[in-house]
Amino acid sequence: MKIGILDIQGSVEEHLKCLKKLKNMEAVLVKKIEDLKEVKGLIVPGGESTTIGKLLRRFGIRDEIIKRVKKGMAVWGTCAGAILLAKKIVGKENADSLGLMNIVVERNAYGRQLDSFETQVEFDTSPKKDCCGKKLKNTVRFCRIPAIFIRAPKILEVGEGVEILARYKGEIVAARENNMLVTNFHPELTDDEKVHQYFVKMCEK
Ligand code: GLN
Repeated sequence: MKIGILDIQGSVEEHLKCLKKLKNMEAVLVKKIEDLKEVKGLIVPGGESTTIGKLLRRFGIRDEIIKRVKKGMAVWGTCAGAILLAKKIVGKENADSLGLMNIVVERNAYGRQLDSFETQVEFDTSPKKDCCGKKLKNTVRFCRIPAIFIRAPKILEVGEGVEILARYKGEIVAARENNMLVTNFHPELTDDEKVHQYFVKMCEK
């Protein structure tokens, strides 16, 4: 199974390293439409959402990604990637979002670079449904995972159909809506691959 990593800006190499540790899959870097061939899921890495948003248009792949996600391709946005997937972004200087997921986010809501922090969160590791909405058997549920927040956004609201997967101090920090996953922390900067494994499961149909 092929999983793509959007190779425009941000923590691309780190995601690649994590995916390489997992079995039965091939990780590919995605810069242009052709790179999306046979890709079952796409990771939109953390970085700078305004930059990635602009370059998605310049690279000519923005509309193709939107089209594919609407057709069921799995997508996972980490931090800046989560901002780019949101239907609504509040605050000034907003990114050119793809407008896909039923969440409202606020950029840099945990403060500046200096306010970045590392903690642990309880993550719901067991998807209840696959991408087609078929129910999956749950085995293990919440697992403690390390979570690094770097100028992270806050997920202020989630709409209908969005499942909350993790919270930090009561605030939502990971969520899923059908084939779309967001984490506003960075699993790719840790040695724990549980969220990557979760995403791989979402990509399997
Ligand atoms: N603050 C960045 C933004 O708004 C996101 C930071 C990150 O991805 N670590 O785009």
